[in-house]
Amino acid sequence: MRNLQATQARRLEEQFTGRTAFSRRERSMYSHDVGALPGLIKPLLGSTQPAGVVQPISEQEVGELARWAASEGVPLVPRGKSTSGYGGVLPVRGGIVVDFVRLASVLSIQPDRVTVQAGISWKKLDERLRQQGLTRCLYPSSYPSSTVGGWLAQGGAGFGSWKYGWFAENVLSARAVLGDGRVRDFAGKELELLSEAEGITGLITQVTLRVMPAAEPQVALAAFDSADDLGRFLASLEGLELWSVSFTNPDMARLANRAPLRTHHGHPVHERVLLPEKYLATLAFHGGKKGSPAAELASRVSAAGGELLGRQLAEHEWAERFNIMRVKRLGPSLVPAEVVIPLAELPAVLAELGRRVRHPLAIEGMGVSGKELVLLGFIPHDQRRFGFNLAFPLSLTVTRTAKRHGGRAYATGLYFASEARSVLGAERLSALASFKAQADPKGILNPGKVLTSKLAGLMGLASRFEPLLRPFANAARIQPGERIGKRTVKSVPPDTAWYAYACSGCGYCVDECDQYYGRMWESQSPRGKWFFLRELLEGREKLDQEAVDTFLVCTTCEMCNVLCSEGLPIEPAWMGLRNITVEQRKKMTIPSFEIMSASLDDNLNIWANYRKNRADWVPEEVKASIKEKADALYFAGCTASFVENDIGQSAVRLLHDAGIEFAYMGQDEACCGIPMLVAGKWEQFGRIVKHNLTEAAKRGAKKVITSCPACWLSWAHLYKEWAVKLGLAYEVEVQHYSEALAPAVASGKLKFKKTPKAVTWHDSCHIGRAGGIYEPPRLLLKAVPGVELREMEHNREHAHCCGSVLSLISEPEVAYGIGKVKLDEAQATGAEEVLSLCPCCQFQMRVSAEKKGMPVKVTDLATFLAKARGYEVKEDLPKVLSSWATFEAMIALMKPQNMAVMMEELFPDLVKAMPLGMGGMMRFFGKLGLLPLMKPLFSVLFPLLMPGMMPKVMPAMLKAVGKRVPMPDYMREQMPDLMPRAMGNLMPHLLPAVVPLIAQPLVDYLSRRRTAAA
Ligand SMILES: Cc1cc2nc3c(=O)[nH]c(=O)nc-3n(C[C@H](O)[C@H](O)[C@H](O)COP(=O)(O)OP(=O)(O)OC[C@H]3O[C@@H](n4cnc5c(N)ncnc54)[C@H](O)[C@@H]3O)c2cc1C
Ligand code: SF4
Ligand code: SF4
Repeated sequence: MRNLQATQARRLEEQFTGRTAFSRRERSMYSHDVGALPGLIKPLLGSTQPAGVVQPISEQEVGELARWAASEGVPLVPRGKSTSGYGGVLPVRGGIVVDFVRLASVLSIQPDRVTVQAGISWKKLDERLRQQGLTRCLYPSSYPSSTVGGWLAQGGAGFGSWKYGWFAENVLSARAVLGDGRVRDFAGKELELLSEAEGITGLITQVTLRVMPAAEPQVALAAFDSADDLGRFLASLEGLELWSVSFTNPDMARLANRAPLRTHHGHPVHERVLLPEKYLATLAFHGGKKGSPAAELASRVSAAGGELLGRQLAEHEWAERFNIMRVKRLGPSLVPAEVVIPLAELPAVLAELGRRVRHPLAIEGMGVSGKELVLLGFIPHDQRRFGFNLAFPLSLTVTRTAKRHGGRAYATGLYFASEARSVLGAERLSALASFKAQADPKGILNPGKVLTSKLAGLMGLASRFEPLLRPFANAARIQPGERIGKRTVKSVPPDTAWYAYACSGCGYCVDECDQYYGRMWESQSPRGKWFFLRELLEGREKLDQEAVDTFLVCTTCEMCNVLCSEGLPIEPAWMGLRNITVEQRKKMTIPSFEIMSASLDDNLNIWANYRKNRADWVPEEVKASIKEKADALYFAGCTASFVENDIGQSAVRLLHDAGIEFAYMGQDEACCGIPMLVAGKWEQFGRIVKHNLTEAAKRGAKKVITSCPACWLSWAHLYKEWAVKLGLAYEVEVQHYSEALAPAVASGKLKFKKTPKAVTWHDSCHIGRAGGIYEPPRLLLKAVPGVELREMEHNREHAHCCGSVLSLISEPEVAYGIGKVKLDEAQATGAEEVLSLCPCCQFQMRVSAEKKGMPVKVTDLATFLAKARGYEVKEDLPKVLSSWATFEAMIALMKPQNMAVMMEELFPDLVKAMPLGMGGMMRFFGKLGLLPLMKPLFSVLFPLLMPGMMPKVMPAMLKAVGKRVPMPDYMREQMPDLMPRAMGNLMPHLLPAVVPLIAQPLVDYLSRRRTAAA
């Protein structure tokens, strides 16, 4: 079922309001998993697009959905985080993808067990368990993203499996909704009806699993020259109390040593740690009943001819254990292979694979119960080349090799359903089939998987002919390495295109991306955007305004850069696309940026205030000490200058008290320009860079001190890069005031009075992840006697974004939701105040608190410190809220529906402004009743005529805008200048959406059936 009938979709929309997706683009996001099939095989699958996506929030809703789907004959395809690679989540028969993302709570925790909803990720579960001093017994290496329900349905082993075995062995019970909507509990042997069943027998809603006391394992890393040595070593581990045993082969080390490092502004974040190109075994263990096995382990390593490597290397490998996909950047694709073999067969299997596979084959092995090994193999390749089709059967070579040694394929899903008998065993397979017949009589649960598959015949055949295919597969080699081209294709620069294919789909970047959790749709996540770019490059997508908006609303929080398993420079890639799409491809930027841009051109600020008012905030008592020229220059930024004056006032008082002499640009200071950079208006950003660098140089500045993290980022990194681009001198050091004050605090020059208060700290993205400045503000707080700093659960590098600015000015409701996530976390600390050092974060958190009715006090660090020095500081919350009210109304007005209503009011002026007597002609046609015939022409005529009509309509438009947008006087006065430029840029983009809404009202008006809206 590719598409639902309109009534079916409406029914779902009504029941799951805001939690359904039916657009073609969004559905396509749910049509794949981490696997990339060769182009020759893909068409055999047919379409894998679902007809829709639904996100239930309760087991009851899952039941209702199943009952409805059974009655309508609509397939349901369960989806966790889609990190599996067996095609299990692919809707091969269409239907509805049931996304478990909103069923992700912990239901109960006991000392030995936890009950969770199926959609919770291992990482989130662990965070909750650790609060209770517990942790999970085992987990897959996709821990940062994959779900508990997904692992039960997929089956598998992971870290901890040496001690605890297969995941299913650690599940005490589970609950699932059956194909007829009934809820059923499963425990003991019955769990086999759900485990590894890929959702064909039930939609798992709850899982109860074993947990253990939290304790960090000790880790050792041992190197072996040969597979024989490694095999002997693994076989010698019996009797040792180890928790996890895993290993990699020399090809993996060779490729990992070449994999590109994570970078920040083009520079590596860490030094490269070179791995010995050998067999490397990672052993993790806890104290154990018999004490630490470390000494015994060392003797067994040496008895097997191996060598224990240093602690630093061991810890590095352990820290990297979730990033096994890092080698994918060298492909940028992979031919994957995953098998289970008896432990004793390892040397023979590896030797045989060495003979049969002539490509680099990176292997990770995971020990299970001391008896079996899961081997995960990757062959770097390039799915864009024909050779990928030829090389792909090597996946079968690995499976055949494993089988020859008593092993089997790892899982079934869609691609390996032909292996179901060897994976599950005949008895279990038939039990599964007969249970499915009664639990899912209509066959709606994930059809086309495990028991049957469109590819079963082909895979069975290919398996049989594998020896014949192998020579071709081995001939289709590529040279691993990042081979980035030179050409921008379909607006996608060559490096971005490479990364789009390199993205493994691991999903580590999804949950923590605020753009995603503010909206909860895959298209909004970094993973979704890479998928979109692949689709664009392959001609199945287009770069329309909706797509451009997806890149524009990213808050630039840089969380994805930190979390990406491959260290892809994600946010910088989106940044580049902002410029290409807006400036080069002339797409619309976020509408509010147009007013800001015009204001910046006229008055050097984004708040549509006068340049002459810029320095009004400076406190009288500090004014006299501000120098004309000085080594240090204080840069206040727009928001501190015009809205949250307390921030600048407090900062300069502290700098003054700390004995720091500084100059200030006053009315010559321009916005740092970052709003224009993220708006895609880089030409304007370049002008600002030049302006500010010139003004700073005039004042002899060697150091620039900022209050705002975005200003800090601009000055510290962006101006530096742009100065090179623009051929300008850049000779400044940049500090945030929290850094600048540190010496005075350390020397005791800057002291604070006792301030007994529990506070929590918000790390701003633009100075935290973007700058690594985490400790200076904390040190300042420590210097205030009586202050108790309570850290939020996610802090420093992992701190959540506040949701400003791009969410706030594009979709305020979304921004309030993201802000609430932050404020909830702050409230959970029990602190009395949230402190931050960013005017924009503060603005966003204050507005979100107001909108969500949360009594959270948000204060700027400088203001807090100034008060702790006895200053009276006025915090003007009403000014924050009234400034926002202006923007909020302006943003609302730019929505097509609201714009259409305003245009209706302007009909008399619009008609009058039409050129060549067209208005009169239209009235004439209206009287004759001919206008409905002309209606389809409106969408062509308006975009053509509007630029010429705008100047004539502008006075009326200004009045209409003034009625809708509450404005301070300075803004109202400037609107006649700002509005024409902003509207000139926006109208061509807005009209296609607005014209269909005004077409009929205009016909009615011209036919005199109605007067213009009041
Ligand atoms: C980097 C990386 C490392 C990995 N490491 C391991 C590893 O160490 N061990 C391992 O076993 N696997 C590993 N995998 C594979 C994969 O992560 C696991 O299979 C994981 O458990 C899948 O979880 P998921 O939430 O992504 O499920 P999905 O991929 O979304 O779904 C998997 C299957 O389960 C079904 N399903 C999902 N949720 C439900 C539900 N609630 N009810 C019923 N059926 C459901 C789906 O339809 C599908 O058939 C790894 C993958 C990656 C990308
Ligand atoms: S920068 Fe932040 S908001 Fe943007 S894609 Fe990355 S995680 Fe999401
Ligand atoms: S962008 Fe990185 S973290 Fe996100 S899915 Fe791709 S590889 Fe994984």
